[in-house]
Amino acid sequence: MSDESESVVVVGGGVAGLSAALFTARAGLPTRVVSAGEPILARNAHLENVPGFPAGVNARLLLEMTRDQVDDAGAEFVDGQVVDVTPVDEGAADQDRSDDGAGFTVALEDGRDLSADCVVAASWSDATYLDDLDLGLIDRGSKRYVDVDEFGRSAVDGLYAAGRLAGTYHQAIVAAGHGATVGRTVVEDSEVPFYNDWVAPEGYFTGRGREVPPGCEEIGEAEWQRRADRSAETMREYFEDPAVEPPTMHPSVDDDE
Ligand SMILES: Cc1cc2nc3c(=O)[nH]c(=O)nc-3n(C[C@H](O)[C@H](O)[C@H](O)COP(=O)(O)OP(=O)(O)OC[C@H]3O[C@@H](n4cnc5c(N)ncnc54)[C@H](O)[C@@H]3O)c2cc1C
Repeated sequence: MSDESESVVVVGGGVAGLSAALFTARAGLPTRVVSAGEPILARNAHLENVPGFPAGVNARLLLEMTRDQVDDAGAEFVDGQVVDVTPVDEGAADQDRSDDGAGFTVALEDGRDLSADCVVAASWSDATYLDDLDLGLIDRGSKRYVDVDEFGRSAVDGLYAAGRLAGTYHQAIVAAGHGATVGRTVVEDSEVPFYNDWVAPEGYFTGRGREVPPGCEEIGEAEWQRRADRSAETMREYFEDPAVEPPTMHPSVDDDE
């Protein structure tokens, strides 16, 4: 990761935040995921509507696999409750963030401050730390959502929202897909010369006299075979132990009854 790349703090380590972080970290943006508790998906008993798992998948295992993937991509995990997000220089909001050093201070409950050029709020169901920003928070019943455009950009430059907090449907793949869109948008809005996050077979671009575009990779047969073998071995390890963690019950259910 380059020190000059724009830094990203993702608030919330559920599927939306993790998916956003996967894309920003893979694009080389220094990325931290701050999370203060269990993702809501940990309450699911068996997850049957995520593409790619024909017999469903244990939700806690899926979360563990996704966290490992984000870790491998280079993101850093920080345990902590975010209590405030403050623009460093409100007057610089319309300027180029990577040049002027403007951005955000992300305050944690334990007194730590993190600085970030961009913040992705993926912290269903807490938006209280955004109260002082002129964001356009939407109240529906007891729930509060962040008003964003179709790519997850909020009314404050550099501040994005993803997943259920941004009002997506309440399904894991929807929240994850939205997180990916938002992560990809953060990359698009940054200085990274980025085209796509693709791995193509050798010759796909160069065989047509084209350069491999930034953010893409061409790999030959030995390498895709090596990656396929590693993938099979990795998945075997994750799935070899059928013992699964029990789901987390809703906090209002009384265990004594
Ligand atoms: C019982 C149950 C069963 C479900 N079953 C299914 C199913 O079968 N299929 C399906 O598709 N979906 C299911 N869902 C819904 C699915 O889990 C959610 O839609 C999806 O996981 C939302 O992801 P998210 O990343 O937006 O939010 P979350 O997973 O809630 O992630 C938000 C994270 O942010 C953290 N956070 C909150 N505030 C702060 C803060 N201030 N600072 C730092 N961190 C913070 C939270 O602790 C959490 O870890 C189920 C949900 C429940 C409750």
